Amino acid sequence: MKLFNIVLDSNKSLREKSKSISNEQLSEYKPLGLEMLDYLKMSQDEDIANKYHIQPGIGLAAPQINKNIRLIAIYINDGENSYEYVLANPVIISKSVKLSYLRNGEGCLSVKNNHPGFVYRNYKITVEAYSYLDDKIVTFKAKDLLAIALQHEIDHLDGILYYDHIDKKEPFKIIESAIAM
Ligand SMILES: [Zn+2]
Repeated sequence: MKLFNIVLDSNKSLREKSKSISNEQLSEYKPLGLEMLDYLKMSQDEDIANKYHIQPGIGLAAPQINKNIRLIAIYINDGENSYEYVLANPVIISKSVKLSYLRNGEGCLSVKNNHPGFVYRNYKITVEAYSYLDDKIVTFKAKDLLAIALQHEIDHLDGILYYDHIDKKEPFKIIESAIAM
C-alpha cells in the first residue's frame, strides 16, 4: 500500500488548474490512479487507518498528492451500494437543476480547519471520462453522495475547494427544494 503525503490547502498546488492527461500519457498514470483507489479503500479500514494515522476518505484528486494532472479516484461503500472509479479527464456533461447537500457539511483530506456551512451541489450529474477500471472512455450518471463526491473531486482539478461554495453571509442557508443527505 502506498502511503501518500496529502497536500494541505495552505499549499498553492491545490489552487492551480490541473493539466489534462493526453492519450499518450494514459497508460503512464494508470498505476498511480489505481494506488489512489487503493489508498481510499485502506483509509476506510479502521485498523489500517489507525495503524498508519490516515484519515478516512471517499475521494482523492491528484493535486492532493502534489500532481497537477486531471486524475481522480472515488471509493464509496455504504454497505448497500459500492462504487469505485479511477478517472482521467473527468467532465460533467450535464447536471440536474435540483440541488443536494450534506447536512453535516463536506470534508476534505486536504483541509484541517473547520469550515462550517452547507455546500450545494447538483443532485444528479452525467460524467464523461477515461475510466482506468474499464480502459476506455465512459459516460455515466451519478446521484446522491456519489454525485457530490465526483463534483468535489473534479473541483480539485480546477483549484476549487469545498468551502469556496459556502455562502459567506449565511453559511447554513436552506434552499427548500434541495435534497438534504
Ligand atoms: Zn477534497
